[in-house]
Amino acid sequence: MAIQIMSAAFTGIKGVIVTVEIDITRGLPALNIVGLADISVKESRERVRSAILNSGFDFPVNRITINLAPADLKKEGSLFDLPIAIGILLATKQINVNDINDYLFIGELSLSGKLKKVRGALPVVMEGIENKIEKFIVPTYNARECSLVKSAKIFPLDDLKQVVDFLNYKDLMPYERGKDIEILINEELDYADVMGQESSKRAIEVAAAGGHNLIMYGPPGSGKSMMAKRIPSILPYLSQEESLEVTKIYSVSGKLGNNEGIVLQRPFRSPHHTISRIALVGGGNKIIPGEISLAHTGVLFLDEILEFKKNVLEVLRQPLEERKITISRVNGTIEYPSNFMFVSALNPCPCGYYGSYVRQCSCSEYERRRYLSKLSGPLLDRIDIFTAVNFLPYNKIISKKNSEKSSIIKKRVMEARNIQEKRFSAEEIHCNAEMNGKLIKKYCHIDKKASKILELMYSKFALSTRAYSRIIKVSRTIADLDGSENILDKHIIEAVQYRKFIDEQIV
Ligand SMILES: [Zn+2]
Repeated sequence: MAIQIMSAAFTGIKGVIVTVEIDITRGLPALNIVGLADISVKESRERVRSAILNSGFDFPVNRITINLAPADLKKEGSLFDLPIAIGILLATKQINVNDINDYLFIGELSLSGKLKKVRGALPVVMEGIENKIEKFIVPTYNARECSLVKSAKIFPLDDLKQVVDFLNYKDLMPYERGKDIEILINEELDYADVMGQESSKRAIEVAAAGGHNLIMYGPPGSGKSMMAKRIPSILPYLSQEESLEVTKIYSVSGKLGNNEGIVLQRPFRSPHHTISRIALVGGGNKIIPGEISLAHTGVLFLDEILEFKKNVLEVLRQPLEERKITISRVNGTIEYPSNFMFVSALNPCPCGYYGSYVRQCSCSEYERRRYLSKLSGPLLDRIDIFTAVNFLPYNKIISKKNSEKSSIIKKRVMEARNIQEKRFSAEEIHCNAEMNGKLIKKYCHIDKKASKILELMYSKFALSTRAYSRIIKVSRTIADLDGSENILDKHIIEAVQYRKFIDEQIV
């Protein structure tokens, strides 16, 4: 009679229950795996055989058929090693358990029988709970992430022998996660370490407050990436729901460290400009999330954005618009969340010193425009704020005055975010940057004086309609930071400053 063991796989960041059926019949010794298993699953034959023998059990000299159901789901990865091995031991009566289907098993086996960490354990456990399975046998390395699901009883074990002993004697209590994992917040990076640069810090604060995308430009070495790295320190804390979602992404990417349970900090991802399209958006043979999903709820920072290949930058279009990415596969599509704050940095010209007082720029007007023209197009359309970062004047460097701490800036950002949450409680958006034309009309009341100024700017700088709505959105955020219900002239004037670079250089 065939034996059934519960296990699971995942697609995107969602778990899917998989039943592993094991049937042993008489015949020439063989082990076949059926049910849309890819090469990585088929390799499990060799691992399971060695693991069983090296753990002191017998491997049957019969014909073994393993069926993974549902058959229409493509299975990849090594997390079926453990359920297969347990199934074989049950079918050959080397263990005797009557409540085997109360448990869900995942784990990769080494040749010696050790349980190795697997990708996607968190979504698998969440799916198990959905399907009324409460007990999970997982590799010890995956214990912490699995324990995030409060109602799950997690039994983390080190090797096949331990799993068998546990099934025989049930002599373990479920894993309890320690308090230590709650305090993984790394507060090291702080704006207090950034001297001067007040106007850029202000621009960053506005961007963080309204969820606006941002470009910083300035000569090499002026501290652009130093400032970008600190953005997560002023963004609101992750909600529990967000934390869990980010952790799922890191779980299926295999990027949770052994000691990490949950991602409690907004991620900051800064891929190098040589990154491939697939590494940026996700996909590939193993289908894993790309940098844009690893940056979900946090910051995606592209330093020297003009060095990135144009076709790589173009794939950012969908995620920037829809806040998720859809990857097509032979059998269906996979979706990963990718809602991030997009921040990038660039030199204002090929030599880097245009507009700087430190050194004379040696580029011609033509060279400069050609250089910046790489930026044009759809990507540029999604940037609300541009800010110049300059070298510090000497008196700032020697000044002993302390810079403002991130925690103080964060407080203001969170107040502005709260105003927006209330404002959009009846809408499907959360922050000002997400407003469309209709919502701008509905929620952005501009007073008379401010509207005069806007009119003046409009004609003076020949602003495009798109630039116009961006200025209003950013003014809305500045007014929120100011605690002002109406958008006043000073808010408009500040918002226009954040477009100076782009309207003068590129339009
Ligand atoms: Zn130059």
